[in-house]
Amino acid sequence: MANYELIDHEFDVVVVGAGGAGLRATLGMAEQGLKTACITKVFPTRSHTVAAQGGIAASLQNMGPDSWQWHMYDTVKGSDWLGDNDAMEYLAREAPAAIYELEHYGVPFSRTQDGKIYQRPFGGHMTEFGEGPPVQRTCAAADRTGHAILHTLYGQSLRNNAEFYIEYFALDLIMGENGECQGVIAWKLDDGTLHRFRAKLVVLATGGYGRSYFSATSAHTCTGDGNGMVARAGLPLQDMEFVQFHPTGIYGAGVLITEGARGEGGYLTNSEGERFMERYAPNAKDLASRDVVSRCMTLEIREGRGVGPNKDHIYLHLDHLDPKVLHERLPGITESAKIFAGVDLTREPIPVLPTVHYNMGGIPANYHGEVLDPTPDNPDRTVPGLMAVGEAACASVHGANRLGSNSLTDLVVFGRAAALRAGKVLDRTTPIPGINAAQDAKILARFDRLRNASGSQSTAKLRDEMQRTMQTDAAVFRTDATLKQGVAKMSEIYSRLSDVAVTDRSLIWNSDLVETLELENLMACAMVTVVSAEARHESRGAHAHEDYPSRDDVNWRKHTLSWIDENGAVTLGYRPVHVDPLTPESEGGIDLKKIAPKARVY
Ligand SMILES: Cc1cc2nc3c(=O)[nH]c(=O)nc-3n(C[C@H](O)[C@H](O)[C@H](O)COP(=O)(O)OP(=O)(O)OC[C@H]3O[C@@H](n4cnc5c(N)ncnc54)[C@H](O)[C@@H]3O)c2cc1C
Repeated sequence: MANYELIDHEFDVVVVGAGGAGLRATLGMAEQGLKTACITKVFPTRSHTVAAQGGIAASLQNMGPDSWQWHMYDTVKGSDWLGDNDAMEYLAREAPAAIYELEHYGVPFSRTQDGKIYQRPFGGHMTEFGEGPPVQRTCAAADRTGHAILHTLYGQSLRNNAEFYIEYFALDLIMGENGECQGVIAWKLDDGTLHRFRAKLVVLATGGYGRSYFSATSAHTCTGDGNGMVARAGLPLQDMEFVQFHPTGIYGAGVLITEGARGEGGYLTNSEGERFMERYAPNAKDLASRDVVSRCMTLEIREGRGVGPNKDHIYLHLDHLDPKVLHERLPGITESAKIFAGVDLTREPIPVLPTVHYNMGGIPANYHGEVLDPTPDNPDRTVPGLMAVGEAACASVHGANRLGSNSLTDLVVFGRAAALRAGKVLDRTTPIPGINAAQDAKILARFDRLRNASGSQSTAKLRDEMQRTMQTDAAVFRTDATLKQGVAKMSEIYSRLSDVAVTDRSLIWNSDLVETLELENLMACAMVTVVSAEARHESRGAHAHEDYPSRDDVNWRKHTLSWIDENGAVTLGYRPVHVDPLTPESEGGIDLKKIAPKARVY
């Protein structure tokens, strides 16, 4: 057995991840005097949240009438009736308080003439339970909202004495004999030391796994590490087949152009110069939900109306807007368009294509952030000592399709909820868990195996094959044939993972080993994604199955659970959707008739 020395740390709470979700949880824990560590593989303000442009949704009513009930309704409809109604109510109700907190922490939101937080329209956010025109609900700091939030939360966390472990790569969860989480082991990238963090509570906030696809808007660090850790702990992932394609990634580069661009009046055209969204979604037009717009774009291209020499993309127009609006509200994307597409936004349209953007699925959690390990008898059983928040988690507030600007809301609302819950349930007098030698040995053995892996398959090549397979076979539109092919190809690629080669054996800044650890996590995510998708015989939200074009609420209004073993074999199970909201109608909750499933038209 490999001989590595472990450096010990003891905390009440260890948060893994310093994106918006991890920092909001860290801050909330530290504010209550809990001894809190935050471990992150990149510097906190380099987490992917920094790239969030468009904004964060909450029914503040600064620009016109709005209500949490309308916000909840839009979220339920956006989720294509797969989200959990209790969690979606919590999101919509708590959003305004969470935004005002951010404001008071110091987030520099854009302002209206009279000094209120500026809000812009975003896809799928409407008035009057979807019957009225789009609402201005998305709070923005120009088109750099994530940047503003992340910097503010990092500063506030430091102010409250949270301890940061920066450029530490978390390897695996330490799981106790009774299924409880006791901590995490991490590798310090700059000096090669290994660290054992024992804690009463671990919060996973490791973000999404967009990089299991070839073309994604997410950072190269979005590799599903928390999902991988949970899978290796023998716990399930949930609803992994639902992968969001954002309609407007820059053609070729994959860099995002925020939906805020359409919120500010931008529109899409095909090769005939037609504003085709008016045909598909007469009411919401270019501001229909993301899955809907991505499918319409793909259909236009398929039917020969794509733009460019190969007729393989679509144009996004902002050239009709007042340059002042671009300058004030969309400075970041003006720059991105110039750098990545060579386009002057004030004169020309941007070439765009649907690009992988967000993972609705993840670690199953309830609206307190507690991780679930469902059994047939108890689909809501929680894992002691383990929480998950943010894109890594599946609470499930986005169901089969997330609305734009609802993710940042999810990060702060559930980061905060996790801290509130911890404050209530953590017993400050119980001791920190002791040492679990068997678990440590297992985690270190895996680390050592990969460090010394001397097979024949290069990490980069396996990753490339995985990304191309996912891009082709688990795409915007799916069929029985593509999904079966995807499962077969992914199984074959996965089987070669055991023959991977790592060439650098050192422990200091070994990016070869980091990428291989990340590849294992990505592969687990990709495998369960394609297997879950193959099994779901209906179309719902982002899962558009051409052989089963309709939504089937009788058989499929349920969450997919997926377990994966060391050999890549996937087992599926299901758990019911929470249809009851938090507050009964009789006590001021939403009108149940409003959120009952119906056809989803925009
Ligand atoms: C380009 C872009 C624009 C977006 N714009 C918007 C928007 O305008 N509005 C909106 O609502 N949503 C937007 N989204 C979605 C939203 O930004 C993300 O879903 C969200 O930021 C994810 O935050 P997070 O805190 O869950 O994770 P991240 O911000 O991805 O952070 C993950 C953290 O986990 C750490 N980590 C991961 N693995 C390990 C490990 N093994 N060891 C240690 N640390 C680890 C990382 O270091 C990092 O700190 C956008 C997404 C993208 C990609």
